[in-house]
Amino acid sequence: MGPPGAGKGTQAERLVKEFGMKHLSSGDIFRAEKASNSELGLRLARYMDAGELVPDDVVVEMMAKAVTQVDGGLMLDGFPRTVAQGEALDKQLAEAASPLDAVVVITADDDIIVKRIAGRRACPLCGRGYHVTFMPPRREGYCDDCDNAELTQRSDDCEATVRQRLEAYRAQTEAVIGYYKGCDSLAIVEVDGNRPAEVVADEVTQALASLDAARV
Ligand code: AMP
Repeated sequence: MGPPGAGKGTQAERLVKEFGMKHLSSGDIFRAEKASNSELGLRLARYMDAGELVPDDVVVEMMAKAVTQVDGGLMLDGFPRTVAQGEALDKQLAEAASPLDAVVVITADDDIIVKRIAGRRACPLCGRGYHVTFMPPRREGYCDDCDNAELTQRSDDCEATVRQRLEAYRAQTEAVIGYYKGCDSLAIVEVDGNRPAEVVADEVTQALASLDAARV
C-alpha cells in the first residue's frame, strides 16, 4: 500500500521475483479492460481518467475474480483501496482459508511523488516500467525487452490528475492502513519510499524474509 508514485508497482515486480508469487495489480487489470474498449472498460475510464476511485462494487467483483484465478502466493498491488474493499477481500480469503500474511506500506513525500510520476514510462507490450531519470531504458524511449516497442506515459500521470489521486488516497485509502493495524495476526511492514528503489527493495525483502523464517 502507499500513495501513487510511492513505488508500489516497482517493489511488487521485484518482490514477486524474489518470493515467487503472482503479482495482481488492480490498476493493470483495469487498464487492460479499458484498452479493450468494452462497456465495462469505458465505465472504468470515466473514474480513472479523473483520478477518482472506481466504485467498490465494480472493484470487488473484478478483483474477487482475479484472486480466485491465482493458485498459490499472491502479491496484491493497489487493492484494497477502501475499508469496504478490505472487508470484502478478508471475507473471500477467510472462505478460502488463506488469510493475508503481511501488509507492506510504502510512504513518500508529495514533491518526490510528483517528480517520479512525471518521468514514469511503461512498455505497452510487456508492461515493464521505466523512469526517464531513475530507471532509464538502454535505448531512450524504447523497451529493453520488446525490441521496437516505444514507451508510453499513462494518461492519468499528468499533474492535475496526480493531485486528485493523492486526494483520493488521503480521503479513502489511508484508513485501510488503520484497518489492517487493528488485525493482530497481520504483520505490517512500513518503509520510507523516498529512497532509491534498490534500498527500499532490500529493506522490504529482509522484513518479509524474516517473517517467512519466523513462520517455518
Ligand atoms: P494504479 O495503477 O494503482 O495507480 O491505479 C490507477 C487507477 O485505477 C486509480 O487512480 C483508480 O482510478 C483505479 N483503481 C485501481 N485500483 C483501484 C481500487 N482498488 N479501487 C478503486 N479504484 C482503483
